[in-house]
Amino acid sequence: MTAAASPARTAAIVPAAGRGERLGPGAPKALRSIGDIPILVHAVRSLTDCGRVGLVVVAAPPDGVEGVAALLAPFGTRVHVVAGGETRQQSVSRALDAVPEDVDIVLVHDAARALTPPHLVAAVAAAVAAGHDAVIPVLPVADTIKSVDDDDVVTATVDRSTLRAVQTPQGFRRSLLVKAHMAAGAPTSESAAATDDAGLVEQLGAPVRVIAGHPEAFKVTTPFDLILAEAVWARRREAAGPHDGGIAASRDAAEGQRSYG
Ligand code: C5P
Repeated sequence: MTAAASPARTAAIVPAAGRGERLGPGAPKALRSIGDIPILVHAVRSLTDCGRVGLVVVAAPPDGVEGVAALLAPFGTRVHVVAGGETRQQSVSRALDAVPEDVDIVLVHDAARALTPPHLVAAVAAAVAAGHDAVIPVLPVADTIKSVDDDDVVTATVDRSTLRAVQTPQGFRRSLLVKAHMAAGAPTSESAAATDDAGLVEQLGAPVRVIAGHPEAFKVTTPFDLILAEAVWARRREAAGPHDGGIAASRDAAEGQRSYG
């Protein structure tokens, strides 16, 4: 890998310790499958395939660390699994503690954004490397947005031209992300915790840069999203052709041994 392609060591964190109950009964969301491949494996593959991420730290449910580690074993030493916390914010914080000291850039990526194109991951990492210390991918808001009161009555129509829907991976200069998490503490309830890491950086007053997101980086949250994900995956498989076992197959051991950077 050339110095130009990888000017800074980059790691990614995947908080995957949630139950994902909005998908309905069954396995935790990260272990549901799209095209017979667990959502978490898809998400990790998006990161390792981007060409800039050398190490992925996954936060798993505390009682599921061994199982998740076994699932991700084919990635080799490029993937570490740690126990997550009670909130997404805590899970990210714990994974951040496990990122080696020499990593300069950290991406945080929700496991649920399983089909995120690797080129989007690379674009976020490149924007951080280019000097933007906090970078998030966003899409314009297509729907009209209204605010409502407790009685379900509309109080206003919001100007959507200034609104953006936020995706992951979110990318950060590592020192800024560490500072943001330290300043935020460790709220134990999801309602008190931040829903994304850029929010913590905003609380510090630091600028957060947006870049163009991608529709296929959508979050798999509901049963409908799973249907959509299956369709996107089937189309990708078709486009890749019958001989491309590489998309679905586990990474070979040689690639798993590649050092990060
Ligand atoms: O529930 P929701 O989809 O908002 O969760 C966002 C992400 O945070 C998911 O990938 C989920 O697994 C993760 N999470 C976590 N630790 C928690 C709660 C959620 O890693 N305690």
